[in-house]
Amino acid sequence: MERKNIWSTYTSEEITELDNISTRYKACLNEGKTERECVELGVRLAQEAGYRDLNDVMAEGGTLKTGDKVYAVCMSKMLALFRIGEEPVSAGMNILGAHIDSPRIDVKQNPLYENEGLAYLDTHYYGGIKKYQWVAQPLALHGVVVKKDGTVTKINIGEEEGDPVFVITDLLVHLAQEQMEKKASKVIDGEKLDLLIGNRPAEKVLEELQSADQTDAKENAAEKSGQIKANVLRLLREKYDMDEEDFTSAELEIVPAGKARDCGLDRSMILSYGQDDRVCAFTSLFAMLDVTEAKKTGCCLLVDKEEIGSVGATGMHSRFFENTVAELIALTEGESEIKVRRALANSRMLSSDVSAAYDPMYAEAFEKRSSAFFANGITFNKFTGSRGKSGSNDANAEYIAALRKTMDDAGVAYQFAELGRVDLGGGGTIAYIMANYGMEVIDSGVAVLNMHAPYEVSSKADVYEAVKGYRAFLKM
Ligand code: MN
Ligand code: MN
Repeated sequence: MERKNIWSTYTSEEITELDNISTRYKACLNEGKTERECVELGVRLAQEAGYRDLNDVMAEGGTLKTGDKVYAVCMSKMLALFRIGEEPVSAGMNILGAHIDSPRIDVKQNPLYENEGLAYLDTHYYGGIKKYQWVAQPLALHGVVVKKDGTVTKINIGEEEGDPVFVITDLLVHLAQEQMEKKASKVIDGEKLDLLIGNRPAEKVLEELQSADQTDAKENAAEKSGQIKANVLRLLREKYDMDEEDFTSAELEIVPAGKARDCGLDRSMILSYGQDDRVCAFTSLFAMLDVTEAKKTGCCLLVDKEEIGSVGATGMHSRFFENTVAELIALTEGESEIKVRRALANSRMLSSDVSAAYDPMYAEAFEKRSSAFFANGITFNKFTGSRGKSGSNDANAEYIAALRKTMDDAGVAYQFAELGRVDLGGGGTIAYIMANYGMEVIDSGVAVLNMHAPYEVSSKADVYEAVKGYRAFLKM
């Protein structure tokens, strides 16, 4: 296939739409920096577009018909949207899938400690990161703390103007002679990725706690801790009504602080945290909300835990999706196990995840003819995996041919690529899991530069083509 930068082909109307989509996309990146935040945002946008909670429809004993729109949420971290098509659900769905978890650093369950006058949160990183990229930069803390009575408190510190931020320190270069000799994988030790969160002793914290007669608090803060840690605990109690033990039932994620930005003098790109895989998740969601009529039942499935192997109740390996489709069949065609299986086997899926954009600075890692290039459109990967296609979902030629026609007819720019040189490495996606149902699945998505770094780069043109491609797919 000929390579072609698509910017020069756009009309002024197309540029206007591209700019609108970029703005909409950046706003979503800023609001959804964790999987929970993405689900909350997705539900809000779905409700605004007339989607109803599937559980409510079931509770009312209702049924679903062509044009009806429902969503289902699994444990606040996985989201599925459905719009019933003209054909029965058992005739198969057009499914857009992507993941909403991103590499980051998680807070451990017993994290708070003081060391030589500095207070820290102990951490364990999530997903594949180059640890040295995460030090010495502003970080924010997002997540939830759930108390024993079930109260869920949301935490979001470091994003608003005027918020404090946090940092993971690195050794000054003047003393780093030994550190600089180490292999990149050893430069920063995993246990040294602790988050610096305080340095100010509690002023009269002992007296305050004693006068308030908070017995638990006294035990936690005053007697067992140093004064810096005690002060952090006092602030957590004041602001979030949480005690030290509440960290055990918290999910706190450390992510780069700040917003998505236009990148380049020509503003042709976007620099942001979390574009793997939210560049595919949000564009899939936009297409799902935009398309209002289709032959097939449309689905947008946003899953968690891809970065750690799609495991757990909210990962792609979970039965959540299958169970939800069974409920959908019950509400449209009547309870039928065989129809659930038919619905899944007859479906088609674009399993979307980011692709590695060709980087001339690291040309040696790529094979040019099979690389994805910025501003060349949505990327299709017939296979992923590495070293003999190991672990790959190898999409069928017949399915690819049908997609080529759909994309060409809709005027969508697309390219075929592979992730890096054959023997160099690679990564898994959710494609092979859905393919287990016997449905047609292909890996697709948007190419990014410096994938898994705190800030990843995408091309606005590719984001635009992805939305166009996903819309065309839903109408296929
Ligand atoms: Mn990914
Ligand atoms: Mn990834």
